[in-house]
Amino acid sequence: MKRNCPICGKGIRYKQKSHLTDAVRKNRKCKSCAAKIYYLSLTSIEQNKRNELIRKSTKVAMSKLKKEGKKWGIYERTKEIRQKQSHAMKGKSSHRKGNPLLDEHRKRIGESNRGKVRTARTKRVLRAIRLRQLKERFGQVMPNYNSEACSIIEEYGKQHGYNFQHAENGGEFHIKELGYWVDGYDAQQNVVIEYYENWHQKQIQKDLRRQQEIEKHMACTFIRIAE
Ligand SMILES: [Zn+2]
Repeated sequence: MKRNCPICGKGIRYKQKSHLTDAVRKNRKCKSCAAKIYYLSLTSIEQNKRNELIRKSTKVAMSKLKKEGKKWGIYERTKEIRQKQSHAMKGKSSHRKGNPLLDEHRKRIGESNRGKVRTARTKRVLRAIRLRQLKERFGQVMPNYNSEACSIIEEYGKQHGYNFQHAENGGEFHIKELGYWVDGYDAQQNVVIEYYENWHQKQIQKDLRRQQEIEKHMACTFIRIAE
């Protein structure tokens, strides 16, 4: 079963009919477009932080490879493979060409908001504006989710008497006023649950501020489970 990404047109495969129907209904994008939309939904300060994290982890990965005497990704291609690949690409235009998300990104770079200090409120307003613009251009915006986290949240709910709405059960709950999606939400008991993968350890302060913002806005119980 297959459908095409509504943005880039790339084919997306589905194992189950229900997944396909769900994806059509929610106008789901392919993984890479969804990731780009998520990135664009961040304020530029958040984007800079994220880029910094990626730069750092790339450095770590590269130095590890160096120690092991290996070279980084692309250089491992032999000359023959490179020639083949370059031949295969001849006459084709780059996948980057005419991609609306990349144009959007270029525009964002031009905005250059570096170094400005923003209050939580300003960030919230900016996030809401970004999400609205993205929705107008690309349809409903939804974050990528971790399927494993869904099972863990489901299991946690069973054990502790909660009924969480999550990505694979009604979709992640969207706190519209704050512009956040939470991993799980039990509306009846007003309980938010978040599953933090290991990389969250790099943004403890940010997560804490987010948690406090959510607690204050929803007057909810906030449960955090870590990988
Ligand atoms: Zn796509």
